[in-house]
Amino acid sequence: MSNRTFTMIKPDAVRAGNIGNILKMINDAGFRIVAMKLSKMSMERAGEFYAVHSERPFYGELCEFMSSGPIVAAILEKDNAVEDFRKLIGATNPAQAEEGTIRKAYATSVGENAVHGSDSDENAAIEGAFHFSGTEMF
Ligand code: ATP
Ligand code: MG
Repeated sequence: MSNRTFTMIKPDAVRAGNIGNILKMINDAGFRIVAMKLSKMSMERAGEFYAVHSERPFYGELCEFMSSGPIVAAILEKDNAVEDFRKLIGATNPAQAEEGTIRKAYATSVGENAVHGSDSDENAAIEGAFHFSGTEMF
């Protein structure tokens, strides 16, 4: 069982003014913020972050969207963090996201879905290290 995960509040949710609302949902669900910053990925950095999807038809669109404006990157701590955070964010497609999830509340489409959550302990560690140095984690 992992106790850390990595998240990004995506450019759509930052643009819509939902940083505070989403952080409140994260806080209310019992996650502790270990690291956090407002940052903007270049097209190249977004491509590197989502390299696992490089063969998918939506890859170009995904990289353009993720580099279209600032994101809030954060590392979160809680027992069973990866799995519990995936439950809190809800399905990739907001039309399928359950009531009470972040994507149900704030995502507008499968592409612009408000928030990212790591899908494994291994990826949580890789993605956290992609955005933060050791001195930025508490
Ligand atoms: P994330 O990795 O951002 O937390 P996820 O794990 O729920 O999302 P993935 O399958 O990893 O979903 O897809 C990564 C991202 O690619 C999605 O969050 C979404 O922004 C985008 N994406 C996925 N499928 C599609 C699609 N069919 N059309 C457009 N964009 C898509
Ligand atoms: Mg994913």
